[in-house]
Amino acid sequence: MDLSRKLTGILAAGILAAGSLTVPVPVSAAGRSAPSTRDFANGPERNDIAALTTSLPLTAAARAATPAAAKHRGYPRRTGLRVYPENPADKSIKLGLVPYHAIAPHLNALQRASDRVSAEIAGHSALGRDLYLVTVTAPETAAEATRQDRWRALIENDPAAARRDRALARDYKTPVWINANIHGNEWEGTDGALRVIERLATATDTATARLLSRTRIYVTVTNNPDGRIAGTRANGAGFDINRDHATSSQPESRAVRDVVIATQPVVMLDEHGYTGTTLIEPATPPHGQNYEYDLYIKHALPNALGMEAAIQKLGYAETARADIPFRDYAPGDWDDWPPIFTPMYAIYQGAVGHTVEVPLQVNGGLYDSLPVAELRRRSGINTAVAASTIGAAITYADTHRAQLLADQIEQFRRGWAGAPSPVIPDGYVDGFGPEDHYSTTFPRAYVIPAGTAQRSPAAAARLVDHLVAHDVRVTQAKVPFALNGKKYPAGSYVVDMHQPKRGLANVLLEAGRDISDLVPQMYDISGWSHRLLWGASVDISRTAAPRTRTKPVTIASPTGAVTATPGRNLSLTLRDAADVRALNSLLDQGITVRRTDASTVVVPAAARRAAQDAASRFGVRFTAADRKATGTVVTRPVVAAAAAADELFALREMGFEVRPVSTALLNAGTADLTGVDTLVVSSGLSYSQLNTTAKATLDAVLTHAGVVTRGSTGAAFNTAANLLPATAVAGRGDANGVVNVTNTGPVVGAGSLPNSFVYSPLWFTGTGFTVEQRYAATRPLVAGHWLPTGPGVGGQAQAAGQAAVVSGTTARGGRAVLFGTEPLFRTHPKGLYAQFARALYWSAG
Ligand SMILES: [Zn+2]
Repeated sequence: MDLSRKLTGILAAGILAAGSLTVPVPVSAAGRSAPSTRDFANGPERNDIAALTTSLPLTAAARAATPAAAKHRGYPRRTGLRVYPENPADKSIKLGLVPYHAIAPHLNALQRASDRVSAEIAGHSALGRDLYLVTVTAPETAAEATRQDRWRALIENDPAAARRDRALARDYKTPVWINANIHGNEWEGTDGALRVIERLATATDTATARLLSRTRIYVTVTNNPDGRIAGTRANGAGFDINRDHATSSQPESRAVRDVVIATQPVVMLDEHGYTGTTLIEPATPPHGQNYEYDLYIKHALPNALGMEAAIQKLGYAETARADIPFRDYAPGDWDDWPPIFTPMYAIYQGAVGHTVEVPLQVNGGLYDSLPVAELRRRSGINTAVAASTIGAAITYADTHRAQLLADQIEQFRRGWAGAPSPVIPDGYVDGFGPEDHYSTTFPRAYVIPAGTAQRSPAAAARLVDHLVAHDVRVTQAKVPFALNGKKYPAGSYVVDMHQPKRGLANVLLEAGRDISDLVPQMYDISGWSHRLLWGASVDISRTAAPRTRTKPVTIASPTGAVTATPGRNLSLTLRDAADVRALNSLLDQGITVRRTDASTVVVPAAARRAAQDAASRFGVRFTAADRKATGTVVTRPVVAAAAAADELFALREMGFEVRPVSTALLNAGTADLTGVDTLVVSSGLSYSQLNTTAKATLDAVLTHAGVVTRGSTGAAFNTAANLLPATAVAGRGDANGVVNVTNTGPVVGAGSLPNSFVYSPLWFTGTGFTVEQRYAATRPLVAGHWLPTGPGVGGQAQAAGQAAVVSGTTARGGRAVLFGTEPLFRTHPKGLYAQFARALYWSAG
């Protein structure tokens, strides 16, 4: 570790002591800028700003429009892109940048003018706008394009053969992918990329012709048109797409996932802004432990140095140097640990991925306060920086094409061979030291059982489809088999870890790791796990390979069934989001459903046809109900929610109708609370900030309606509105990850997973309520980062054994459930959704 890395670490510790993680950092005494900070989204501000988005229009299926669908066609493709009406409100215009509506005409003109440029639609935004994928390359016949596609597949599927293939080595066009503007209010990646496209399209020199004869340059011109137009970081659904790559809840992240799989780039850039100094990855530790990191860093560092040299040549005072976190920052300041960021995700798909941050801020408050001339001066420099980094990366990819290709082949070879995680010597590249060592022991296989050992067949199918969509290979047993002394029925799924993208398979399925003691802080989430949080039972086989006849899976088998004999009432257990969706659909149809306990509902035999439809549509199982079961009638709860965008999205995914509310809407008298059965409070609603009229309206509702809260805003509402006598205790604000819990209560606890997710965890003390769920009695964190706030305060030790979720009847007469966990966080923990739904039904009475 060199001095600058230590220095920034000390500064970062000072920032933490001040209690904030995201404030802009001043220039240090040493004259070096302290580490740039990434912006959170769907982070702590989730508790402050209630989402107001109403239902979104359905978008067209993105996958059908991906380049894979267009294989066997040559280049150029000359797709006539639809042109959108001019939108004078587009926020790009003030900056002198290209507004979204001008991109399609520009690309149409470029396609007409040059046989090197092809544009396609790679998908659609949350609000339905086209996502453009541009390919710049020398013209190809259909046969040449088919051959390129075959080679791409050969590299992944038979790396040994690809390595021997001399024609491939000579003629395979090196794929390079540029993603721009994933954060809508970080505009200039788009403009810089368009500048490069134009230059490559029109250049007449032989060097460019030669480059394009052996390179395919793919550009997703704007990954976030909704945000580009509106000047927002998030997409039209309120999501940060650059946090969604492991979850794939948004069409923009699914579109680029499909692009990276179909194109298999050796190098990719994700163009962002604004960090004061241009920032170019590689990142600091902790490094994702599932990478073939040696194959990555050997290119990522020199490529970053090449990009730095390129921006220096621009000659601006503001571009005299770059921050390269690997070289310049302390561990934890700018890490590549979670696979939620585009470049980190792309590494698992075979690319040397880099985030690039252009330097000069033009968004936020400065967008309104700076003179237009200054904004345009800045955006001009930013555009030049974006273009020069893209140009430098293309040059690197061309200059090092043989080695990049060999290393991508080697990545996939190691996967197939089950080679051990690489051990990289110190000094492997400049600055690689003991702090950079991260590796793993890959299991031999994961098994997703069918039959009675599967907790939720619907969750299992969802997980399998997710894995397959990410190009993880999954097979399905044709016959029963035994593994590690356990019997699995036919139909069980197997993820054999001897596969090309084993790193991706493992980063999605592993538990993860408690890295609290390894780095002083982390930037974004440090834990996630589709195995522990998505609701399906998944077994690990550490060393034994499954020996059984299997078939490859392209889509999971249907899981829905009605297993009771005709004439019997039907029982449905609310274990998973799919069960909740099915129940809401039955309630929508006016079917009388009774609840026998907080997690079991009974559907009358007469509604068998509707149950069968719901079973096949949502993949859920109806079994025979106890003949004596009666229960209370379930009504479809009318839900009002002061909640974050991700929570609104998750509630709608489960089929709840939700009316957004907030302090502002209530104070303005525009929030509709008539007939509300339950109120969700997690963001943007402060009881003490309500005016007299609003308070009276809400008080009237609270005499009968239920309340479900989440997080600190929800807990403050509970206290101010005098609901449950529970005192909330805050864990450290940036603590996050997967935790062990014990389920003790009848509403949320019943049938819940032994794991949950936390972000800024809370726990509850006091008496006069039911404890639904507790943090595990010792060191609750399974994976993630959770240090104490101070000595003996806010840490895992203080949370251990404490109440994480509580329920009860309020002093006002309604029912309330308080969550200290994050069951809907960024829509990731699908297996926790039903906890929240059960709280809604129960609290609604
Ligand atoms: Zn960004």
